[in-house]
Amino acid sequence: MNTEILRIDRKNPDEEGIEKAGQIIKSGGLVAFPTETVYGLGGDALNPTSSRKIYEAKGRPSDNPLIVHIADFDDIKRIASLDDDEYTIEDVSKKAKKLADLFWPGPMTIILNKTDAVPYETTGGLDTVAIRMPSDEVARDFITAAGGYVAAPSANLSGRPSPTRASHVIEDLNDRIDMIIDGGDVDIGLESTIVDLTGDRPLILRPGAITALDLAQVLEDIDYDPGIISADSKEAPKAPGMKYRHYAPKGELTVVRGEDSKVTEYINECAERDKHNLIKVGIICSDEHVLRYKAPSVKCAGKLGDETMVAHRLYSILREFDEEDVEVIYSESFEGGNLGRAVMNRLLKAAGQKIIDIDKI
Ligand code: AMP
Ligand code: MG
Repeated sequence: MNTEILRIDRKNPDEEGIEKAGQIIKSGGLVAFPTETVYGLGGDALNPTSSRKIYEAKGRPSDNPLIVHIADFDDIKRIASLDDDEYTIEDVSKKAKKLADLFWPGPMTIILNKTDAVPYETTGGLDTVAIRMPSDEVARDFITAAGGYVAAPSANLSGRPSPTRASHVIEDLNDRIDMIIDGGDVDIGLESTIVDLTGDRPLILRPGAITALDLAQVLEDIDYDPGIISADSKEAPKAPGMKYRHYAPKGELTVVRGEDSKVTEYINECAERDKHNLIKVGIICSDEHVLRYKAPSVKCAGKLGDETMVAHRLYSILREFDEEDVEVIYSESFEGGNLGRAVMNRLLKAAGQKIIDIDKI
């Protein structure tokens, strides 16, 4: 299949091109598109064949549900059952509305009970559906042109870091999908916060740019899914996708946490040893620390404390290491800040939860 690339000038968007992209979705095809979080791989969310095609193009296990993207809050009614007369559901629908008022359009996904309009192919067999309204205007125009319901996971091959620019999508999915809308670099660079409203209490299934503190404005009893809290948690995460190795570079990644100078010393020792053994080493560090390291490939993720920049650069950096055939990667730890939690969640998943606590050894 020949993949068409549609370049969008954000100051002067190509309406005809977007209309064509929408038609591709309506006729059962697949289009990758930019959002403020990462690039998505879109298909018609209400068409089971389209969802099957998404899993096939990504090589994604079909029990890993897709997020349905909408462009208009009222469209939620067709896909989420908000009108059940049970008190708890009523309550949920009020919460969903309040969350949407505050954080949509934006990087937050809500899980609600699904209606029959949503095929099980889209929800990975679940009775619940994940819904998001992105703030990226190109994304919203495309969703509208596509009929209002676009199922979209991240537009990468399963297991690879999510794409934050069109060239990443081309690397993974060229010739496997009908079109890629190139809207330039994304804004945030990490996937949306997922909030599950279907249980006894609201839970964050995946941390993102909308933090627990943000959500607490609406959901006083918000908590994290125990399955994602700690590296050694025995509980399975509630978002089925979080159980898979994810966001992973080809090289073996280890995160090193602790007192600044000790972290540097430890990483340099490891890098020296690996170099001696002819292993290709890469290092991820804050901008301020770059001159401390001696490995051939040292990448700056952002200034100390600037987790927004680290989020923005992380997936690109992991892909660059792949291109350089780096075999072993050491990363400083990036905690704190609004996005710190999400950054560490992705970094640790990419590392297969391998973290060295330098102050404890
Ligand atoms: P991605 O599209 O790659 O960002 O992945 C979407 C994430 O949303 C995956 O981790 C899914 O497991 C999660 N997800 C989607 N639908 C649901 C659902 N109904 N319940 C729980 N998690 C979901
Ligand atoms: Mg993904």
